Amino acid sequence: MNQPLLRIENLKKSYGILEVLKDISLSLEQGRCTAVIGPSGSGKTTMLRCINYLEVPTAGHIYLAGELIGERKQGDRYISFAERQLAPQRLEMGFVFQNFYLWPHLSVIENVALAPWRIKGMKKDDAFDLARQALEKVHMAHKAEEYPERLSGGQQQRVGIARALAQQPKIILFDEPTSALDPELVGEVLSVIGELADEGRSMVLVTHEIRFARDVAHEVIFMDGGLVVEKGAPSDVIGKPAHERTKKFLSQFHAG
Ligand code: ADP
Ligand code: MG
Repeated sequence: MNQPLLRIENLKKSYGILEVLKDISLSLEQGRCTAVIGPSGSGKTTMLRCINYLEVPTAGHIYLAGELIGERKQGDRYISFAERQLAPQRLEMGFVFQNFYLWPHLSVIENVALAPWRIKGMKKDDAFDLARQALEKVHMAHKAEEYPERLSGGQQQRVGIARALAQQPKIILFDEPTSALDPELVGEVLSVIGELADEGRSMVLVTHEIRFARDVAHEVIFMDGGLVVEKGAPSDVIGKPAHERTKKFLSQFHAG
């Protein structure tokens, strides 16, 4: 059997006495989209941040394409990486944040070219070519020279997605990419994410857009209280949830 692209093994994360992730194990095949749903505070962001070691897990291990992330194994001990060793691994995972986090003093294309140019060390022209292609993918090439503050939230988030793509990552992690947007701007961002999923990009998508998750994801995970309560096909987890907590969570989206 093929090894999964991403494997999360018994991941735990605590802040002091607060146990945020209790024991999470997941895997994702190449080319698949897993949607993660669940109430606020259930640990979704913390899980994504542990996957690329923006947060160091309290326990457990992350593997991408079979490679340990954030640490190496020596005998039966795990030795943590220094920040400098983490950078190349982080580039293999694009991260799309809820609040975009574009650099305000850089143009759109500079924002997108920055990682391949400055972190990966590509030639400047090549990095900018790559950035332009990424902007085309998100239908933002016409705004390449613009500054972020001149863009709508939906456009800024599409630039955020282009920035992730320009890293040429193995996987993209989306953390509620549309939840900071005005409702009329959500559609343009979801449509770009849908195109990427159709192309067979591997992704973990944390979202409250339940209908979208049902349409694009291959698997849906419902998290609550730092645990995976339920996972399976979208038609099961969203269509006919087995657990009371999943039903209760989903019921708020059917109202009105
Ligand atoms: P979600 O994304 O599902 O809303 P989060 O992962 O952001 O949930 O947060 C889960 C829990 O962890 C919350 O109770 C939050 O307050 C807590 N938490 C997150 N980050 C930190 C931190 N850096 N320090 C302390 N507590 C944190
Ligand atoms: Mg969150």
